[in-house]
Amino acid sequence: MLTIKDLSVEVEDKKILRNFSLDINDGEIHAIMGPNGTGKSTLSKVIMGNNLYKVVNGSIYFNGVDITKLEVDERARMGIFLCMQSPISVEGVSNREFLYTALNEIKDEKVSLYKFASSVNGYVDELKMDKDVIHQTINKGASGGERKKNEILQMLVLEPKFIILDELDSGLDVDSLKVVCDSINKYLNTHKDTSVLMITHYSRILEFIKPDYVHILNEGSVVKTGDFSLALEIEKTGYTGLNNVSENEVYE
Ligand code: ADP
Ligand code: MG
Repeated sequence: MLTIKDLSVEVEDKKILRNFSLDINDGEIHAIMGPNGTGKSTLSKVIMGNNLYKVVNGSIYFNGVDITKLEVDERARMGIFLCMQSPISVEGVSNREFLYTALNEIKDEKVSLYKFASSVNGYVDELKMDKDVIHQTINKGASGGERKKNEILQMLVLEPKFIILDELDSGLDVDSLKVVCDSINKYLNTHKDTSVLMITHYSRILEFIKPDYVHILNEGSVVKTGDFSLALEIEKTGYTGLNNVSENEVYE
């Protein structure tokens, strides 16, 4: 589904990602772990198409299409979704207006308002959000956790094929994290081809949403790839314990 080849990315003339490569097949869950400031959020923004981040080398393919130069909305229409690390508030736009407009942009036929309202209300219930959230301004005065729930509400409504979760657990208390992860797992169970890229520096969230692969990012490159046990190893040794990475462990 997603192939990233030799990607190098700069922001304000600073090199962030260096020859980064990754392959994600349909239905796979990949986790990217790494210390602060290593380029994890940069990766998520560059996949989504934020043009502050300059691709100086390499390409990103989505289902065989080179998307490296496509705009954010084109990528979103193709089914790529980013749950941001720090979602912003958008003055003057309600969640309802935003979601209904976005949904109609990606669907071929106009979505019935009745169907839309009943499915959104169901998701609001499922995520244990404030009943009135749909009429409120996007993230206005919302806590970090409420913002994260709102991102997942958008995800459930827009039904993406490829989901990037950037530090989903930041801001969510333990109970809310469980509610949100249950909801994501339910979505993945009914959308078997959907793939996920989970970005995190703690392995805690990986207990809730089990990854097929775990990649360790350091200074903009993948330095080690493994399965869930690698995340547990990180929990014990920290990232500095992984300094001796042998040649054959380096991910292509
Ligand atoms: P992570 O998510 O792994 O903590 P980021 O991808 O957010 O790391 O950041 C990687 C590096 O790039 C950091 O040194 C950060 O300061 C820098 N960086 C990211 N975005 C910007 C930006 N918009 N302007 C300037 N520097 C940035
Ligand atoms: Mg980050």
